Amino acid sequence: MYDPEVLRSLHVSRYKSEPEIFAAPGRVNLIGEHTDYAEGFVMPAAIDFATLAGISPRDDGKIVIYSENFKEERVFDARSLPKSGSKDWSDYPLGAMVMLAGEGHRIPGLSLSLLGDVPLGSGLSSSAAVEVATALAVTSLVGVDYARPKLARLCQRAENEFVGANCGIMDQFISANGAEDHALLLDCRDLSFRLAPIPANVALVIANTMVKHSVAGGEYTTRRAEVEEAAAVIARHRPEVRFLRDATVEDLHKWGAEMSPNALKRARHVITENTRTVAAADALIDHDLKELGRLMAEAHVSYSQDFEASCVEADTMVMLAHSQPGLIGARLTGGGFGGCTINLVEQGKANEFRDGLAASYASETGIVPQIHVCHASSGAHRVIASLSH
Ligand code: ADP
Ligand code: MG
Repeated sequence: MYDPEVLRSLHVSRYKSEPEIFAAPGRVNLIGEHTDYAEGFVMPAAIDFATLAGISPRDDGKIVIYSENFKEERVFDARSLPKSGSKDWSDYPLGAMVMLAGEGHRIPGLSLSLLGDVPLGSGLSSSAAVEVATALAVTSLVGVDYARPKLARLCQRAENEFVGANCGIMDQFISANGAEDHALLLDCRDLSFRLAPIPANVALVIANTMVKHSVAGGEYTTRRAEVEEAAAVIARHRPEVRFLRDATVEDLHKWGAEMSPNALKRARHVITENTRTVAAADALIDHDLKELGRLMAEAHVSYSQDFEASCVEADTMVMLAHSQPGLIGARLTGGGFGGCTINLVEQGKANEFRDGLAASYASETGIVPQIHVCHASSGAHRVIASLSH
């Protein structure tokens, strides 16, 4: 995370007033892929890359937003906020404010400055970080205190309704609720959650394959339809099953023949992934890292073979991880068809692991990967209280 002093002095020199500063982290999902829309479980952790938001009031009724990442400023009128985004980076912070206004809060004139080290567009959720940091900053300025799950929902709506991106609740939820040295098992049905300890000597090594296959968007829609088809077949026999969260492998044995072969495979991934995700939280709670590694390996095979959401590069990155020192578990994380792998690695060997993986992936694929050694970190929080308050 950047030193908040950097943002403070930047804010003071631009806006001549002391900001209150808030931080919200990016995240990585340890296990639980394509389970969210089946009302199942995911288990992300917040990471030590974060977006800082500095805020101070203004008396001219303007909302001025500056991003040091883009080195650009945008100006809006607090009395007539836009109804939808304009395909600009400012959609993310502005969307959070528009959603807050929709909740009945009057958004006053304000200066908001942003500075983040979450890599943009790399699957580590810089978007949720910017939304959550902004929402915390603005609620503080307005003088309201939102419970964290509610704050996360509001930020998800900013992304769905204002930015126009179809994302689940996970990213905003973990950014708002993460805890240092913990993963968070989230039940996407009712947003109840459980923290599971990650030992301080375990690093989260995030390896970017540097590819994102163009099929990703279309395949996401197809996979979702197949998952829904499978749930509908089971529901014909067991009407209480509305989502695959409620289904079992036994159901597939009984009625899988009534589904298309693809729907059966996708459903087998989702149903077993839900079980694995809960088991992975239990393994962390029991300090059983060996079991966690086994579950991650099984999850990758299921994601690759049953869900068919991996790709050559991601399979290569996971395979190569197994011959590096200190590995506990590795799998492709995120929506699939490229993106990042998550590797749990013994902290003392993390740098050696990173260098070895980078070299072998480069020689195998001809692509130089970006690999980040991260730590499970705390969720969004205030870092500097304004001196002028
Ligand atoms: P990801 O969330 O995986 O990083 P997204 O495409 O969902 O990728 O979100 C990235 C976008 O979020 C950026 O292109 C930018 O518009 C916005 N964003 C993220 N961080 C910042 C920041 N510090 N300042 C301004 N905009 C940001
Ligand atoms: Mg995003």
